[in-house]
Amino acid sequence: MVIGGGLAGLAASVALAEAGWRVRLFEQRPFLGGRAASYVLPDGEHIDNCQHVTFGCCTNLEDFYRRVGAGEKIKFFDRLLLLDPEGRRGEMHAGILPAPFHMTGSFLTFSPLAWKDKLWIARAFYSILESGGHPPDVDEPGGISMLEWLRRHKQTAAAISRFWRVVLVSALSEELDRIDARYGIAVFWKAVLSNKTGYRMGVPGVALGDLYEGCRASIEQKGGEVIFRSPLRGLRIKNGKLIAALFDDGREETADAFVLALPHLALSELLSDSVKQADPALRNLDKIIDAPITGVHFWFDRQVMSEPFIALLETTTQWIFNKTALYAASGPAATPGKGQYLQLVISASYDLLPKPRQEIIDLCLKEIHHALPVSREAVLTKATVIKEAAATFSPQPGVDRWRPIQETSIGGLFLAGDWTATGWPATMEGAVRSGYLAAEAVLRLAGTPQQFLLPDLKPDGLAGLWAKS
Ligand SMILES: Cc1cc2nc3c(=O)[nH]c(=O)nc-3n(C[C@H](O)[C@H](O)[C@H](O)COP(=O)(O)OP(=O)(O)OC[C@H]3O[C@@H](n4cnc5c(N)ncnc54)[C@H](O)[C@@H]3O)c2cc1C
Repeated sequence: MVIGGGLAGLAASVALAEAGWRVRLFEQRPFLGGRAASYVLPDGEHIDNCQHVTFGCCTNLEDFYRRVGAGEKIKFFDRLLLLDPEGRRGEMHAGILPAPFHMTGSFLTFSPLAWKDKLWIARAFYSILESGGHPPDVDEPGGISMLEWLRRHKQTAAAISRFWRVVLVSALSEELDRIDARYGIAVFWKAVLSNKTGYRMGVPGVALGDLYEGCRASIEQKGGEVIFRSPLRGLRIKNGKLIAALFDDGREETADAFVLALPHLALSELLSDSVKQADPALRNLDKIIDAPITGVHFWFDRQVMSEPFIALLETTTQWIFNKTALYAASGPAATPGKGQYLQLVISASYDLLPKPRQEIIDLCLKEIHHALPVSREAVLTKATVIKEAAATFSPQPGVDRWRPIQETSIGGLFLAGDWTATGWPATMEGAVRSGYLAAEAVLRLAGTPQQFLLPDLKPDGLAGLWAKS
């Protein structure tokens, strides 16, 4: 039995079904995808909970999409466009040089940064490179923050605000002073330095919910089922073994193994104090803190942007996604001349949480007018704000000590979720990894071991000279 139909639960279900198990997946909502889902607004509009992107270095998410027949629905982009408040554009893309030098050309011509900023960034990059992605100065007890690491490596204020912050707040959904330097550095090693394709950004060309159509089929093919609107209410544990999951109306369901793929705080509420005391790994789930992301959806009466997406520097709005263009290949929503749908993303949006929605709309619209001057003539026909207070777990220094592995000391109980120990931050890749690891643990204990987890992308070009095995 798998409980929780987010990416972690889906990955565990699909892996176990492929291993021949009859999986029953219970989800409290009427749709799959968890935080990476899409749904219908009261006015009939289909929207994603928030824009979700992947990167070339997310090997397991790519594998999962392929297994469920959704691989072709992700479009990968080689060019990342950035715009500063002065209207200067910078572009990051790979040139002809091998990794780790493939970005050198676009980095040197990146106009939002001055030469001095670039020089210090290059030096910090070298520290990451020469240590194979793991500089020894991040290994202090309790960890150090990314901001502290950047200060130690003498990064200029502009390098921090126009480069490091732009990449890391988006990638890790947290501010630099609250990011464990190990996570921040891993982003640059895995996505930028160690290979030529890890930085490529993958954006769904369909609504998020359309990516999971194949999941249900793969579970049902093996005799399993997906049961919606079934919130887990409790667990029956006897003699150190989980024997039943409890649902509404006193319904009890038994299984050979239970994978709980719930958010960590939802799980913590379901566990009794005695269970938490018995297993130290389950005792500290409340110590994993959540970080917010806000999505702002704008519908204009005309085209205001031609690029598929742009990152904005030093504004509240961090990314603008041109949903009309991104959906162009797959639906009538994209017909040119019929208006345009943009989705804005603001990660680590602590300041926006207490603000009224109209204030957020006004603030972001002002920034859109500045960044996309043609939008000043357009009419905003509709706007929606979705605040996710618990979007991702905060990758704070030392957070790894609170993240439990997928196998627990309670017989039959396995965990999955982006917050479990995967080495990855709270991402779709982390969630899929956790699901694969949970499925591997179930199969190992059943005496039929099988491997699903794929390794990171191999260092390529000259990066292999520095990579540690
Ligand atoms: C706004 C936002 C933007 C994001 N952007 C990105 C991005 O661009 N790229 C990226 O990689 N990641 C992004 N993420 C993170 C990504 O969505 C998550 O890391 C990932 O989806 C987590 O999957 P999960 O399965 O671990 O958890 P969840 O998706 O939270 O799944 C848990 C599931 O359990 C269900 N559930 C909860 N309680 C119960 C219960 N009692 N009984 C039954 N079911 C229950 C929930 O309904 C849910 O379906 C973003 C997240 C948010 C919120």
